[in-house]
Amino acid sequence: MKKYVIGADVGGTTVKLGFFTSEGELLDKWEIPTDTAPGGNILKDISDSCREKMQSMKLAVEDFAGIGIGVPGPVLQDGSVDTCVNLGWGRKQVRKEMEEILGIPAAVGNDANMAALGEAWKGSAGGYKDVVMVTLGTGVGGGIIINGKMVSGAHGYGGEIGHMVVNSHETVKCNCGKSGCLEQYCSATGIVNETKKALERCDSWTTLKGCRPLTSKYIFDAAKAGDTFSKTQVDVFCKRLAKALSHISAVVDPEVFVIGGGVSKAGEIITENVSKHFDEFSFGAQKNTRFVLASLGNDAGIYGCAKAVLE
Ligand SMILES: [Zn+2]
Repeated sequence: MKKYVIGADVGGTTVKLGFFTSEGELLDKWEIPTDTAPGGNILKDISDSCREKMQSMKLAVEDFAGIGIGVPGPVLQDGSVDTCVNLGWGRKQVRKEMEEILGIPAAVGNDANMAALGEAWKGSAGGYKDVVMVTLGTGVGGGIIINGKMVSGAHGYGGEIGHMVVNSHETVKCNCGKSGCLEQYCSATGIVNETKKALERCDSWTTLKGCRPLTSKYIFDAAKAGDTFSKTQVDVFCKRLAKALSHISAVVDPEVFVIGGGVSKAGEIITENVSKHFDEFSFGAQKNTRFVLASLGNDAGIYGCAKAVLE
């Protein structure tokens, strides 16, 4: 068996790259800018950078079992994408092209799905086979791992937890074009928007009044410091998230939910609260489901990409 694998997590501004052993030890990681300009060739840039790194480490392409690539968009089962707006890609045979350029097998997946695979391999869900990860950042993403395998689905939309409709009365549109998606309430932006609305209706004193600009971090910090209004807002947020996760649990029944993304930096205030509300929305052994914070941070993607090669 080849000794090494490459993880390449492609974002709109940077590509995170990592070389791993097949046991999952990270040997080196680095970043290159994502060239989304017309005429740019992201896959060739990845290949060139990897070859350079191999040379400096006295390794050859032949030492690598393959490269895993995470992209911000739905990925079809043949490793192609229909469109990837953030990368300036239309229809593209990502897997095939990467294999031709670098000369080793490639695995392609959605970035949030890859992050879930990473957490289930070497992160806080390491050792679990049935894992659902929810990423609370600018948007809400997710990844579903069942029996150790990533569920990307027939159209590449597996794990799009953020676009589950949780409020049919919402009049504001989500980025996806629908209204009432989980992302509209439980992303960093969503928490702030919901809190601003509640602030307008709030007559009592809260440290959030006069806080400009209001951020999700400030809301969680104020709640931890005992601000009653903020505690209520955190509770509303956690209850919404718990309810959505209970729906996922009713379908795929994971052993553990991993909560990641920028918002999750608030820490155990989220896992404890979500776990408490999840209990109200679940029954039987479903109540044993665990909630943990993601532990690999921004590296979850490259870990998952590396693991995808080994699948
Ligand atoms: Zn949506």
